Amino acid sequence: MGFKPVVVVHGGAGVWRGLDLDMGAVVKTLKEAVMIGLDVSRSGGCLDMVVEAIAFLEDSGLFNAGVGSVLDYVGGVSMDAGVMISSGRAGGVAAVTYPRNPIRLARIVAEKTPHIIMAGPRADELAAKLGLEKHPGPHWRSVERWKTARLKPPQSTWIARRIESAKALGYDTVGAVALDSNGCLAAGASTGGVLLKLPGRVGDSCIPGAGFYANGKVAASATGIGETIIMSMSSLRLAQLYEIVGVLRDAVELTVREHTMRWGPGTLGLIALSSRGEVEASYNTEAMPWASASLGEEPRVSGLPIA
Ligand code: ASP
Repeated sequence: MGFKPVVVVHGGAGVWRGLDLDMGAVVKTLKEAVMIGLDVSRSGGCLDMVVEAIAFLEDSGLFNAGVGSVLDYVGGVSMDAGVMISSGRAGGVAAVTYPRNPIRLARIVAEKTPHIIMAGPRADELAAKLGLEKHPGPHWRSVERWKTARLKPPQSTWIARRIESAKALGYDTVGAVALDSNGCLAAGASTGGVLLKLPGRVGDSCIPGAGFYANGKVAASATGIGETIIMSMSSLRLAQLYEIVGVLRDAVELTVREHTMRWGPGTLGLIALSSRGEVEASYNTEAMPWASASLGEEPRVSGLPIA
Protein backbone atom coordinates (compact mmCIF):
# COMPACT_ATOMS: atom_id res chain seq x y z
CA MET A 1 0.00 0.00 0.00
CA GLY A 2 2.91 2.36 -0.68
CA PHE A 3 1.32 4.39 -3.48
CA LYS A 4 -1.24 7.18 -3.45
CA PRO A 5 -3.92 6.38 -6.05
CA VAL A 6 -4.19 8.82 -8.96
CA VAL A 7 -6.73 9.06 -11.79
CA VAL A 8 -6.47 11.17 -14.94
CA VAL A 9 -9.21 11.36 -17.59
CA HIS A 10 -9.61 13.24 -20.86
CA GLY A 11 -12.64 14.14 -22.94
CA GLY A 12 -10.89 14.28 -26.32
CA ALA A 13 -8.50 16.52 -28.21
CA GLY A 14 -10.14 18.83 -30.72
CA VAL A 15 -11.58 22.26 -31.23
CA TRP A 16 -14.44 22.14 -28.74
CA ARG A 17 -15.67 25.60 -29.76
CA GLY A 18 -19.02 25.84 -31.48
CA LEU A 19 -20.24 22.54 -30.08
CA ASP A 20 -23.82 22.29 -28.88
CA LEU A 21 -22.47 21.28 -25.48
CA ASP A 22 -22.65 22.82 -22.03
CA MET A 23 -18.96 23.12 -21.06
CA GLY A 24 -20.02 23.34 -17.41
CA ALA A 25 -21.51 19.86 -17.75
CA VAL A 26 -18.34 18.62 -19.48
CA VAL A 27 -16.17 19.93 -16.62
CA LYS A 28 -18.48 18.48 -13.96
CA THR A 29 -18.60 15.09 -15.69
CA LEU A 30 -14.82 14.88 -16.06
CA LYS A 31 -14.40 15.68 -12.35
CA GLU A 32 -17.00 13.08 -11.42
CA ALA A 33 -15.23 10.46 -13.55
CA VAL A 34 -12.00 11.14 -11.62
CA MET A 35 -13.84 10.85 -8.29
CA ILE A 36 -15.44 7.57 -9.37
CA GLY A 37 -12.04 6.18 -10.32
CA LEU A 38 -10.59 7.24 -6.97
CA ASP A 39 -13.54 5.80 -5.03
CA VAL A 40 -13.04 2.50 -6.80
CA SER A 41 -9.38 2.53 -5.72
CA ARG A 42 -10.50 1.89 -2.13
CA SER A 43 -11.65 -1.61 -3.04
CA GLY A 44 -10.28 -2.26 -6.53
CA GLY A 45 -7.12 -2.01 -8.60
CA CYS A 46 -5.93 0.19 -11.45
CA LEU A 47 -7.95 -1.69 -14.08
CA ASP A 48 -11.19 -1.18 -12.11
CA MET A 49 -10.31 2.51 -11.74
CA VAL A 50 -9.79 3.04 -15.47
CA VAL A 51 -12.80 0.95 -16.53
CA GLU A 52 -15.23 2.62 -14.12
CA ALA A 53 -14.03 6.14 -14.95
CA ILE A 54 -14.37 5.47 -18.70
CA ALA A 55 -17.75 3.67 -18.34
CA PHE A 56 -19.07 6.76 -16.54
CA LEU A 57 -17.93 8.99 -19.43
CA GLU A 58 -19.43 6.53 -21.95
CA ASP A 59 -22.75 6.70 -20.09
CA SER A 60 -22.84 10.50 -19.93
CA GLY A 61 -23.72 10.98 -23.60
CA LEU A 62 -21.55 14.13 -23.56
CA PHE A 63 -18.55 12.61 -25.28
CA ASN A 64 -17.81 10.70 -28.46
CA ALA A 65 -17.86 7.30 -26.75
CA GLY A 66 -20.52 4.82 -25.67
CA VAL A 67 -23.93 6.55 -25.57
CA GLY A 68 -22.64 9.78 -27.18
CA SER A 69 -20.72 8.12 -30.04
CA VAL A 70 -20.57 9.97 -33.35
CA LEU A 71 -22.10 8.39 -36.45
CA ASP A 72 -20.44 6.86 -39.48
CA TYR A 73 -21.13 7.83 -43.06
CA VAL A 74 -24.40 5.92 -43.24
CA GLY A 75 -25.58 7.05 -39.81
CA GLY A 76 -24.57 3.98 -37.79
CA VAL A 77 -22.78 3.77 -34.42
CA SER A 78 -19.72 1.55 -34.16
CA MET A 79 -17.22 1.84 -31.37
CA ASP A 80 -13.64 0.93 -30.43
CA ALA A 81 -12.21 0.63 -26.91
CA GLY A 82 -9.24 -0.87 -25.15
CA VAL A 83 -7.45 -1.28 -21.83
CA MET A 84 -3.98 -2.30 -20.69
CA ILE A 85 -2.31 -2.78 -17.32
CA SER A 86 1.34 -2.59 -16.38
CA SER A 87 1.65 -6.38 -16.14
CA GLY A 88 1.31 -6.36 -19.94
CA ARG A 89 -2.24 -7.64 -20.09
CA ALA A 90 -4.34 -5.86 -22.73
CA GLY A 91 -7.69 -6.14 -24.48
CA GLY A 92 -9.57 -4.24 -27.12
CA VAL A 93 -12.78 -4.31 -29.12
CA ALA A 94 -13.12 -2.92 -32.62
CA ALA A 95 -16.18 -1.77 -34.58
CA VAL A 96 -18.65 -3.06 -32.00
CA THR A 97 -22.27 -1.92 -32.06
CA TYR A 98 -23.92 -3.87 -29.25
CA PRO A 99 -22.50 -2.74 -25.90
CA ARG A 100 -23.44 0.47 -24.18
CA ASN A 101 -19.99 0.29 -22.56
CA PRO A 102 -17.40 -1.03 -25.01
CA ILE A 103 -14.75 -0.54 -22.31
CA ARG A 104 -16.37 -3.34 -20.27
CA LEU A 105 -16.15 -5.68 -23.26
CA ALA A 106 -12.51 -4.71 -23.80
CA ARG A 107 -11.83 -5.64 -20.19
CA ILE A 108 -13.45 -9.03 -20.74
CA VAL A 109 -11.23 -9.61 -23.79
CA ALA A 110 -8.19 -8.77 -21.64
CA GLU A 111 -9.13 -10.87 -18.66
CA LYS A 112 -11.18 -13.76 -19.98
CA THR A 113 -9.92 -14.56 -23.48
CA PRO A 114 -6.51 -15.52 -24.85
CA HIS A 115 -6.83 -12.71 -27.43
CA ILE A 116 -5.94 -9.04 -27.59
CA ILE A 117 -8.53 -7.58 -29.98
CA MET A 118 -11.98 -8.86 -30.94
CA ALA A 119 -13.99 -7.20 -33.67
CA GLY A 120 -17.39 -6.72 -35.23
CA PRO A 121 -20.47 -8.93 -34.99
CA ARG A 122 -18.71 -11.79 -33.17
CA ALA A 123 -17.52 -9.43 -30.46
CA ASP A 124 -21.07 -8.07 -30.27
CA GLU A 125 -22.38 -11.62 -29.83
CA LEU A 126 -19.98 -12.12 -26.95
CA ALA A 127 -21.20 -8.90 -25.31
CA ALA A 128 -24.84 -10.02 -25.66
CA LYS A 129 -24.10 -13.54 -24.37
CA LEU A 130 -22.30 -12.14 -21.35
CA GLY A 131 -25.29 -9.95 -20.57
CA LEU A 132 -23.60 -6.59 -21.08
CA GLU A 133 -26.01 -3.70 -21.34
CA LYS A 134 -27.16 -2.89 -24.89
CA HIS A 135 -26.37 0.42 -26.59
CA PRO A 136 -29.49 2.61 -26.79
CA GLY A 137 -28.80 3.68 -30.41
CA PRO A 138 -27.69 7.05 -31.81
CA HIS A 139 -27.90 9.97 -29.40
CA TRP A 140 -29.93 12.93 -30.72
CA ARG A 141 -26.88 15.18 -30.49
CA SER A 142 -24.86 12.75 -32.61
CA VAL A 143 -27.67 12.68 -35.18
CA GLU A 144 -27.67 16.49 -35.35
CA ARG A 145 -23.89 16.59 -35.79
CA TRP A 146 -24.10 13.94 -38.48
CA LYS A 147 -26.72 15.89 -40.41
CA THR A 148 -24.61 19.08 -40.25
CA ALA A 149 -21.41 17.28 -41.28
CA ARG A 150 -23.10 15.52 -44.20
CA LEU A 151 -23.91 18.92 -45.70
CA LYS A 152 -20.24 19.86 -45.94
CA PRO A 153 -18.51 19.29 -49.30
CA PRO A 154 -16.02 16.37 -49.23
CA GLN A 155 -12.32 17.21 -48.91
CA SER A 156 -9.54 15.85 -51.09
CA THR A 157 -7.85 13.38 -48.73
CA TRP A 158 -8.88 11.47 -45.65
CA ILE A 159 -6.62 13.47 -43.39
CA ALA A 160 -7.86 16.78 -44.83
CA ARG A 161 -11.42 15.57 -44.39
CA ARG A 162 -10.69 14.43 -40.86
CA ILE A 163 -9.04 17.67 -39.83
CA GLU A 164 -11.77 19.67 -41.54
CA SER A 165 -14.58 17.85 -39.77
CA ALA A 166 -12.68 18.04 -36.48
CA LYS A 167 -12.29 21.78 -36.94
CA ALA A 168 -15.95 22.17 -37.73
CA LEU A 169 -17.31 19.93 -35.03
CA GLY A 170 -14.62 19.15 -32.48
CA TYR A 171 -13.91 15.59 -31.44
CA ASP A 172 -14.22 14.16 -28.05
CA THR A 173 -13.19 10.58 -27.48
CA VAL A 174 -12.51 9.60 -23.86
CA GLY A 175 -9.55 8.03 -22.09
CA ALA A 176 -8.17 7.40 -18.63
CA VAL A 177 -4.99 6.40 -16.84
CA ALA A 178 -4.72 5.31 -13.21
CA LEU A 179 -2.23 4.35 -10.53
CA ASP A 180 -3.42 2.17 -7.65
CA SER A 181 -2.12 1.75 -4.11
CA ASN A 182 0.05 -1.20 -5.18
CA GLY A 183 1.81 0.84 -7.84
CA CYS A 184 -0.06 -0.83 -10.73
CA LEU A 185 -0.69 1.43 -13.74
CA ALA A 186 -3.53 1.07 -16.24
CA ALA A 187 -4.58 2.92 -19.37
CA GLY A 188 -7.70 2.85 -21.51
CA ALA A 189 -9.58 4.58 -24.30
CA SER A 190 -13.08 4.47 -25.78
CA THR A 191 -14.53 6.11 -28.87
CA GLY A 192 -17.24 6.21 -31.47
CA GLY A 193 -14.36 6.92 -33.88
CA VAL A 194 -14.38 9.54 -36.55
CA LEU A 195 -17.52 11.35 -37.63
CA LEU A 196 -18.53 10.24 -41.16
CA LYS A 197 -16.01 7.38 -41.15
CA LEU A 198 -16.59 4.60 -43.64
CA PRO A 199 -18.54 1.80 -41.96
CA GLY A 200 -15.99 -0.77 -40.76
CA ARG A 201 -13.24 1.80 -40.06
CA VAL A 202 -11.22 1.01 -36.94
CA GLY A 203 -9.21 3.65 -35.09
CA ASP A 204 -6.43 3.72 -32.52
CA SER A 205 -8.57 3.38 -29.40
CA CYS A 206 -8.64 -0.44 -29.42
CA ILE A 207 -4.95 -0.90 -30.27
CA PRO A 208 -2.43 -1.25 -27.42
CA GLY A 209 0.54 1.02 -28.07
CA ALA A 210 -1.53 3.34 -30.26
CA GLY A 211 -4.57 4.61 -28.31
CA PHE A 212 -3.30 3.51 -24.89
CA TYR A 213 -0.31 1.84 -23.26
CA ALA A 214 0.89 0.91 -19.79
CA ASN A 215 4.13 -0.57 -18.47
CA GLY A 216 5.74 -0.54 -15.03
CA LYS A 217 6.78 3.10 -15.33
CA VAL A 218 4.10 4.96 -17.25
CA ALA A 219 0.52 4.79 -18.52
CA ALA A 220 -0.70 6.87 -21.47
CA SER A 221 -3.93 7.45 -23.35
CA ALA A 222 -4.12 9.16 -26.74
CA THR A 223 -6.81 11.03 -28.63
CA GLY A 224 -6.89 12.68 -32.02
CA ILE A 225 -6.85 11.40 -35.57
CA GLY A 226 -6.70 7.65 -35.14
CA GLU A 227 -5.01 6.99 -38.47
CA THR A 228 -2.03 9.14 -37.48
CA ILE A 229 -1.93 7.70 -33.95
CA ILE A 230 -1.79 4.14 -35.30
CA MET A 231 0.99 5.01 -37.75
CA SER A 232 3.05 6.63 -34.98
CA MET A 233 2.03 4.23 -32.16
CA SER A 234 1.80 7.35 -30.03
CA SER A 235 1.18 5.86 -26.57
CA LEU A 236 4.04 3.39 -26.96
CA ARG A 237 6.22 6.18 -28.38
CA LEU A 238 5.59 8.22 -25.25
CA ALA A 239 6.64 5.27 -23.06
CA GLN A 240 9.80 4.78 -25.13
CA LEU A 241 10.71 8.46 -24.93
CA TYR A 242 10.07 8.44 -21.17
CA GLU A 243 12.50 5.53 -20.89
CA ILE A 244 15.12 7.57 -22.75
CA VAL A 245 14.66 11.08 -21.33
CA GLY A 246 13.45 10.11 -17.85
CA VAL A 247 11.33 13.26 -17.41
CA LEU A 248 7.61 12.78 -18.01
CA ARG A 249 6.96 16.38 -19.07
CA ASP A 250 9.72 16.21 -21.70
CA ALA A 251 8.57 12.80 -22.98
CA VAL A 252 4.97 13.95 -23.41
CA GLU A 253 5.96 17.18 -25.14
CA LEU A 254 8.46 15.43 -27.39
CA THR A 255 5.86 12.86 -28.46
CA VAL A 256 3.39 15.58 -29.43
CA ARG A 257 6.11 17.66 -31.15
CA GLU A 258 7.28 14.68 -33.22
CA HIS A 259 3.68 13.92 -34.11
CA THR A 260 3.02 17.50 -35.19
CA MET A 261 6.12 17.50 -37.40
CA ARG A 262 4.97 14.32 -39.12
CA TRP A 263 1.21 14.83 -39.30
CA GLY A 264 0.58 18.49 -38.71
CA PRO A 265 -1.39 20.28 -35.99
CA GLY A 266 -4.85 19.17 -34.92
CA THR A 267 -3.90 15.50 -34.76
CA LEU A 268 -2.92 14.37 -31.22
CA GLY A 269 -3.58 14.76 -27.51
CA LEU A 270 -2.07 12.69 -24.71
CA ILE A 271 -2.50 12.20 -20.98
CA ALA A 272 0.23 10.40 -19.05
CA LEU A 273 0.83 9.20 -15.49
CA SER A 274 4.09 7.84 -14.07
CA SER A 275 4.49 5.23 -11.36
CA ARG A 276 5.75 8.13 -9.19
CA GLY A 277 2.31 9.70 -9.51
CA GLU A 278 3.40 12.49 -11.87
CA VAL A 279 0.66 13.67 -14.24
CA GLU A 280 1.20 15.35 -17.61
CA ALA A 281 -0.86 16.18 -20.69
CA SER A 282 -0.15 17.80 -24.03
CA TYR A 283 -2.02 18.33 -27.30
CA ASN A 284 -1.59 19.99 -30.68
CA THR A 285 -5.30 20.75 -31.01
CA GLU A 286 -7.07 23.86 -29.77
CA ALA A 287 -8.31 22.13 -26.64
CA MET A 288 -8.36 18.85 -24.76
CA PRO A 289 -10.43 19.00 -21.57
CA TRP A 290 -8.84 16.74 -18.96
CA ALA A 291 -9.01 16.26 -15.22
CA SER A 292 -6.89 14.61 -12.56
CA ALA A 293 -6.59 14.08 -8.82
CA SER A 294 -4.93 11.81 -6.30
CA LEU A 295 -6.92 10.22 -3.50
CA GLY A 296 -8.13 12.84 -1.02
CA GLU A 297 -7.70 15.74 -3.47
CA GLU A 298 -10.29 17.72 -5.42
CA PRO A 299 -10.02 17.09 -9.19
CA ARG A 300 -8.50 19.86 -11.29
CA VAL A 301 -9.60 20.46 -14.87
CA SER A 302 -7.42 21.91 -17.66
CA GLY A 303 -7.29 22.08 -21.44
CA LEU A 304 -10.60 23.88 -21.90
CA PRO A 305 -11.23 25.81 -25.12
CA ILE A 306 -10.55 29.54 -24.98
CA ALA A 307 -13.95 31.20 -25.34
N1 ASP B 1 -8.73 8.71 -31.81
C1 ASP B 1 -10.13 8.54 -32.14
C2 ASP B 1 -10.25 7.79 -33.43
O1 ASP B 1 -9.62 8.20 -34.39
C3 ASP B 1 -10.87 9.82 -32.25
C4 ASP B 1 -10.66 10.81 -31.13
O2 ASP B 1 -9.69 10.76 -30.40
O3 ASP B 1 -11.50 11.71 -31.00
O4 ASP B 1 -10.99 6.85 -33.51
